[in-house]
Amino acid sequence: MQQDFSEVQLQLAATVADFVNSEVIPNAGAWDAENRFPIEQVRAMGELGLFGIVFPEEYGGASGDFTSFCLAVEELAKGDASIAITLSAGVGLGANPIYQFGNEDQRQRWLPELCAGNALAAFGLTEPDAGSDAGATRTRAERTESGWRISGSKAYITNSGTEMTKVTTVTARTGSGISAFAVPSGTPGLIVEPAYRKLGWHASDTHGLTLDGVEVGEESLLGEEGRGFRQFLAILDDGRISVAALALGQAEACLRESLAYAKSRNAFGGPIGRFQAVAFKIADMETAIEASRALVYRAASLKDRGKPFKREAAVAKLFATEAAVDAAREAVQIFGGAGFIEESPVARYFRDSKILEIGEGTSEIQRMVIARSLGLPV
Ligand SMILES: Cc1cc2nc3c(=O)[nH]c(=O)nc-3n(C[C@H](O)[C@H](O)[C@H](O)COP(=O)(O)OP(=O)(O)OC[C@H]3O[C@@H](n4cnc5c(N)ncnc54)[C@H](O)[C@@H]3O)c2cc1C
Repeated sequence: MQQDFSEVQLQLAATVADFVNSEVIPNAGAWDAENRFPIEQVRAMGELGLFGIVFPEEYGGASGDFTSFCLAVEELAKGDASIAITLSAGVGLGANPIYQFGNEDQRQRWLPELCAGNALAAFGLTEPDAGSDAGATRTRAERTESGWRISGSKAYITNSGTEMTKVTTVTARTGSGISAFAVPSGTPGLIVEPAYRKLGWHASDTHGLTLDGVEVGEESLLGEEGRGFRQFLAILDDGRISVAALALGQAEACLRESLAYAKSRNAFGGPIGRFQAVAFKIADMETAIEASRALVYRAASLKDRGKPFKREAAVAKLFATEAAVDAAREAVQIFGGAGFIEESPVARYFRDSKILEIGEGTSEIQRMVIARSLGLPV
């Protein structure tokens, strides 16, 4: 842990670490095996105040900074990536657009419950034919006498089908561009498709959504009509920092397990950690973790200080997620056959890590953002 975090930030990280040690690490293997969304623990995270860290006290939040939020996500990811993405997406993608672009009525309607962790919000940008190319959104919203009728479909939406999910913000094409709407759960025509069978993140909730003529009132429009696409792209910049923090926590979990195994597993008359081939993998993990930590908290600090951070968020996301995938692969290698068996946590880390290079902008999209920031016309 860096030395320049404040006492308050360190205290928060310690509280989340205690929660992870007592509630997450002992149960994460079972949640994964049973594809179970751990609703009790997610509610407990609400009681700890984790869903309200970054929102103002007037909405039930703690008026904390983004660095604190990233510390919480990192600590959770040391135990389980699924529960960490539930927080990261619930706040960074779910509640954040309502806070950033909602009017006072919309904020008052949704944020207190979301900050308390009594409700979850989802974020519906991706569609079957519009992922990296989010501007290709096909979902349409047409004006009615009293509001809007939305039709289309969304793909791979995190937190969209839990019994805690109360609202999903979706993008839809309107006359003058792409707009964003906050759609309450249970609105007729909003169909939550069956949960995906995923390679990893088994304890995170992910569904496709069908919007079959969903009728919402004027008050559902989030921000300015026609500005939804730009709004959501800005939200993704925030989300990229917290996904990078999640990747950092995953890599740290790989290091923790690899180090313990390298010290306790014997071969050829002693612990395998005395072989340079094993020790150097661990040294490389530690180096990548240090670099990831510096990049994640530099981007978070820029955001906290109101400075531009788009490029730094992309750099942090690219580096930390690729480092997490490398760390998981090497952790399995260090565990040998035991690493391929589901009882070992590193098998889960291996499956869980790959999505980090895909969600909230693939590695290729991060490279595009970085190259463009350097003036290249990609
Ligand atoms: C578990 C999970 C949870 C998710 N949660 C959410 C969520 O909560 N909300 C949400 O809106 N979305 C969510 N997503 C969707 C995720 O953000 C997209 O999958 C991701 O952005 C990639 O889009 P795509 O799958 O359509 O891939 P595509 O865009 O079809 O990309 C396919 C490949 O082509 C490459 N490619 C595409 N364009 C370019 C280019 N211009 N240059 C170079 N390479 C390119 C990509 O990098 C990738 O390798 C989630 C996905 C998963 C799997």
